[in-house]
Amino acid sequence: MKRARRWVAGFAVLIASGSCVEAAPAPQALPPAVIVTPTRPVPKAPPVPLGDFVLKGSLIQGGLVLGMAPAGTSALMLDGAPVPIAADGSFVIAFDRDARPVAMLEARSASGETISRTLSISPRAWAISRLATLPKFPVPPADFDRIRPGEIAQINAARKVPVDSQGWRQPFLWPATGRISTLFGSQRIYRNGVAGAYHSGIDIAVPQGTPVLAPADGVVTLASDHAFLLEGNLLLVAHGMGVESAFMHLSRILVSPGQRVLRGQVIAYSGATGRVTGAHLHWSLRWWSAKIDPLLVAGPMSGTR
Ligand SMILES: [Zn+2]
Repeated sequence: MKRARRWVAGFAVLIASGSCVEAAPAPQALPPAVIVTPTRPVPKAPPVPLGDFVLKGSLIQGGLVLGMAPAGTSALMLDGAPVPIAADGSFVIAFDRDARPVAMLEARSASGETISRTLSISPRAWAISRLATLPKFPVPPADFDRIRPGEIAQINAARKVPVDSQGWRQPFLWPATGRISTLFGSQRIYRNGVAGAYHSGIDIAVPQGTPVLAPADGVVTLASDHAFLLEGNLLLVAHGMGVESAFMHLSRILVSPGQRVLRGQVIAYSGATGRVTGAHLHWSLRWWSAKIDPLLVAGPMSGTR
């Protein structure tokens, strides 16, 4: 039972990769030109010195960190890739399950001054199980080849939808509480030595029909109108700044693409659709293409039922 579930969810990691784009700022009209005759020379403003970063969160594989950029930052980069910054200077970064041990965070001021910080990313020991069996293909190959590309295209298109949400700033709720049946990052190695894709999210063993809550504010980017081969009924919610939740195997989805959802709102019911052998809720979190661990973001589960 557990084996198939892991395989399916892990497989989804491989095929559900896509990239997201930030919303381009709306073009602003230039103010009309005004000719001013200076009465005395205007001193040039000195460059604003950069301060230091404030970071809050786990510098660990699968971890998510909220930050405040140094005052005067006009551009921010993580390992050379641009990171969007909110108007108040805050930002979010995260570290993939397989993130390297060192990352470089760099802020640049409008005058070209830079400040960088080397981040040490703690490694984790992932649950690896070695099996005496070979992987099984869950769907007849002909059906898979015919149907799957369209599903992947839908997922990738959803991840390109520009979203404006502040949910990424909020403390994340558990969308459902119950026994955690498969951890994020776990992986299987088969008899032939081939490693399966790792589990991209966390599985919560809840009965069919359990309400699924939005863990934070967001915008629905995909609400599948039929069960996908692997994910079943799939719901994607973007929380802004590249942070995204995916909920899989749902029995019913209550929201529609483009709809805003609020933290704690019931957005779906759990189920057993797609490639599963039993009812549970699979919850994945990503920051752009980095897969992150919901357990680190939502914290210890309380009030299990
Ligand atoms: Zn799963």
